[in-house]
Amino acid sequence: MSSLNPNTKFIFITGGVVSSLGKGLASASLASILQSRGFKVRLRKLDPYLNVDPGTMSPFQHGEVFVTDDGTEADLDLGHYERFSGVSARKSDSTTTGKIYQRVIDRERHGDYLGATIQVIPHVTNEIKDFIVNDLEDEDFVLCEIGGTVGDIEGQPYLEAIRQLAYDLGRDRTMFLHLTLLPYIPTAGELKTKPTQHSVKKLQEYGIQPDMLLCRSQMPIPENEKRKIALFCNIKEENVIQALDVSNIYQVPLAYSKEGMDKAVCRHFNLPCPDADLSGWEDIVNILKSPEGEVRVAVVGKYVKLLEAYKSLSEALNHGAIANKHKVKIKWIDSEELENKNPEDFFSDVHGILVPGGFGLRGTQGKIEAVKYARTHNIPFLGICFGMQMAVIETMRNVLEISNANTTELDENCEAVVGLMTEWDKDGAKQIRHKDGDLGGTMRLGAYETVIKEGSLAQSIYQTTNISERHRHRYEVNIKYQDALNKAGMIISGTSPNGDLPEIVEIPNHPWFIAVQYHPELKSRPFAPHPLFVEFIKASIKHSRLV
Ligand code: GLN
Repeated sequence: MSSLNPNTKFIFITGGVVSSLGKGLASASLASILQSRGFKVRLRKLDPYLNVDPGTMSPFQHGEVFVTDDGTEADLDLGHYERFSGVSARKSDSTTTGKIYQRVIDRERHGDYLGATIQVIPHVTNEIKDFIVNDLEDEDFVLCEIGGTVGDIEGQPYLEAIRQLAYDLGRDRTMFLHLTLLPYIPTAGELKTKPTQHSVKKLQEYGIQPDMLLCRSQMPIPENEKRKIALFCNIKEENVIQALDVSNIYQVPLAYSKEGMDKAVCRHFNLPCPDADLSGWEDIVNILKSPEGEVRVAVVGKYVKLLEAYKSLSEALNHGAIANKHKVKIKWIDSEELENKNPEDFFSDVHGILVPGGFGLRGTQGKIEAVKYARTHNIPFLGICFGMQMAVIETMRNVLEISNANTTELDENCEAVVGLMTEWDKDGAKQIRHKDGDLGGTMRLGAYETVIKEGSLAQSIYQTTNISERHRHRYEVNIKYQDALNKAGMIISGTSPNGDLPEIVEIPNHPWFIAVQYHPELKSRPFAPHPLFVEFIKASIKHSRLV
């Protein structure tokens, strides 16, 4: 802790009453309004589950897996953090109980604690504390979000660790922010504060006295209720902040600022509070209030029953639409439902089609149908990761009539247009993988460079020929099919720098058809919309004017 900047303050964010209150978005929004007053922020997430990372979890369990530039598979809240703060997350910003225990056990085997009995306190809690204060620079605020809900067994070591940190660093450098819900009971016609009181009591049992409460509520909180919460929870009344439901997430930073949340944070830390500049958020909210038009885009995937699985994707589409002063309406289509049906029934009312990333057999035929429809009906198409692999397979099957063209992910005995990657370069070193190797953390992950062909659609979109994008895949289009694809009208317009790995394909004879092996949605931000999404939406708007 000795290298820690003495001016850095820590805000610990916990959640109570119920899950899914949007702690990630709340943390990201607070970070953003602190930034708007000139402060430097960093955001971190601590997830109490036992997986080392969410990479092996089903998207139905955990929503999207967010990937950082440095190749960490992390909780989707890191996406909120990046999008709202513009600060790229790193490996050192995300941990889980699995990771913490892995470190403790490795160190025990190594003999680092020789002689000691290894216990949750202090060994696990010390590891959590190290994570929180490690790899920082000169941040004014580090916001640490504890996953889960106060009272969960898994979360206890985290609460103990932040309690200790507040003791170690001093209360003038730390703040406990607790997010709760005030449910509205229609028969009583009242917002109820009791669950919040209980949740704070629970925190107090762990030795944590919250400094600020952020109360989600569907209606304004009457002053007397605020006073009651403050009194019973031992919190200054001005630090009981209401978080009213809003119609879109871009209003959240503005709403918090209006409630004086950032000013209350400055007051808590005895810091001067420079004027805020929130004009960027205001501009976005204004566009969404009165867009020039609406564009409809179909997203064809297999996790559409849980839209959290496509969080970055839907956000990137929003960013692309906002950049075009439009509103995007996403038509979520379950790829399985497309199979053996008339695609016209699904696509006749959309202006663009997107096939996102995915894994496994279920629903793949539907994705191929979606690609075919876009290709043969001149509808703007964007394929991402598995979506690019499906686009290549579609061309091989339907244009070149190689009916068993497939990926070895789905069929070991196919014409392997897409196959397992067993070797690739990372920062000058060879990465080797085996068919029966571990599945956790072994994909081609994080930022890799792509070299784009001159004169391609990709070049016109990116306005450059050298890009870096984030990856998360185990399989890859085999470059040896390049000539065959060219004959079928599809070109490989981007590859890894050594030319081995296709990264972008496109169909020059189509108005707008492009598919990429990486995940552009992970780098799109409201104030830096990703060019692929801006141009995809632009092409879709153009298409909407033709039909
Ligand atoms: N399942 C495919 C692969 O591993 C695609 C992955 C993805 O879409 N993220 O290569």
